[in-house]
Amino acid sequence: MTLIDHIIDGKNTSGSSGKKQPVYNPATGEEIAQVTMGGAAEIEAAAQAAKNAFPDWSNTSPAKRANVMYSLRQIMSQRADEIARTISREHGKTHDDALGEVARALEVVEYASGIPDKLKGDFSRDVGPGIDTSSERQPLGVVAGITPFNFPSMVPLWMIPMALACGNIFILKPSERGAASANLIFELFKEAGLPPGVLNVVHGGKNAVDAIIAHPDIQAISFVGSTPIARYIYSNGCAAGKRVQALGGAKNHMIILPDADIDQAADALMGAGFGSAGERCMAISVAVPVGEETANRLVEALIPMVQALKIGPSTDPESEMGPVITGEAKMRIESMITDGEKEGAKLLVDGRGFKLQGYENGFWVGGTLLDHVTEDMSVYKQEIFGPVLSVLRSDSYDYAVDLINRHQYGNGTALFTRDGDAARDFARRINVGMVGINVPIPVPVGYHSFGGWKQSSFGGHGIYGPEAVHFYTRLKTVTSRWPTGIRSGVEFTFPKMG
Ligand code: NAD
Repeated sequence: MTLIDHIIDGKNTSGSSGKKQPVYNPATGEEIAQVTMGGAAEIEAAAQAAKNAFPDWSNTSPAKRANVMYSLRQIMSQRADEIARTISREHGKTHDDALGEVARALEVVEYASGIPDKLKGDFSRDVGPGIDTSSERQPLGVVAGITPFNFPSMVPLWMIPMALACGNIFILKPSERGAASANLIFELFKEAGLPPGVLNVVHGGKNAVDAIIAHPDIQAISFVGSTPIARYIYSNGCAAGKRVQALGGAKNHMIILPDADIDQAADALMGAGFGSAGERCMAISVAVPVGEETANRLVEALIPMVQALKIGPSTDPESEMGPVITGEAKMRIESMITDGEKEGAKLLVDGRGFKLQGYENGFWVGGTLLDHVTEDMSVYKQEIFGPVLSVLRSDSYDYAVDLINRHQYGNGTALFTRDGDAARDFARRINVGMVGINVPIPVPVGYHSFGGWKQSSFGGHGIYGPEAVHFYTRLKTVTSRWPTGIRSGVEFTFPKMG
């Protein structure tokens, strides 16, 4: 049985907790590895290694740090297939979907390769007689990242390249269900020339997270995961005096206006609702057609498409959708479908009890389509994080916009229309962080930043892109007077420069 260890100061170690947890292949249900579960002792060791590595790494020139990112880009491109296979094995997503995850991670590595330009300071000459002012952004020190299972490679790589390029040391606490991908990321960085101790990986759950929050040498935490944990880490991390960005869960709506191309909208909903078995924080889980006719046409187009979904393991190139992550996730999703039906939604395609020949022990849920979902139903209010698409029929565009604005989550949203006025109004009025106009999954490219609003994000900083440079650095401003020898006398008033 493969044992997935922590990596501290460049070395594999099982730590001292003695605790382990199984990792499953979701397609077969078989145990494929055991992951070592760390706690306070392992975080302490990682923080110590990180603290020791900080002076050298932060004094390495930004150009040299960028060189590591250039090499990483090269290595990741060459080994993309292997990275994708590792992701699919522990997550279940199709090989093409995993390759897409690698491609999006590469965007962040590319952006981090340009770090010397992003860290360029400001300089003002003669802000007063013989006085100049400059500002620069300096690294924070040791920072930590806590990541979810659903993008075991991309989400850690939303954080690590930017944090390291800015001169910080990183401790990654990945999902227990994405442990092999995390260790592979370390191997890739090592091959790219990253010195020991600059990136450390500590596996574990709540104990490890609580140790990160409590550790006085860890300056900042980036978190991506569900909203209750995001809220917990944000409030406790801030109370411990740390800088925290915590990205949470989602419920993403897509409005379809009567003038939209219905076939195009249905295609978009299939990919955005069922890709990665709906286990994406930017998945569209609610379709909001405006007007009865639009709704009827949309549902008519969707039913055969959901029924025809090719569900299978990542090793089958024909698969369009894989299993969900665990047996518990399968049970939770199926019981939410049952609740939706009990609360009055019309179950048009039922994915409960889906079985795949040869993979009877896998964690499968079939594509599910619910119609006539209403705002008061639990299936609408809560994040399902599975292959379930709800249709909530709306009488008007205004009702649809208000519905989205009222929802607790505000990660992503989309509008499908041919009407430019409506599109412009929507982009302005909608209370959501990432908006797509005829684009179902508007995940920003690596040189913009990613982040939701409301209960989908705490702390106000977007992740990767320009916002990451701000999150992972702090501003220092230096005011200096030259030349020496000018005597201006004693001043007791507040200094005036001019
Ligand atoms: P999760 O919140 O269960 O776990 C995320 C991380 O928190 C993991 O590393 C886990 O070990 C840790 N954790 C779990 N329970 C904890 C506890 N009680 N105390 C402290 N730490 C704990 O999330 P998940 O199931 O791995 O991922 C799915 C969730 O992530 C969904 O809600 C999804 O919407 C969200 N997500 C959000 C984004 C985004 O950008 N907003 C991106 C991806 C996933």
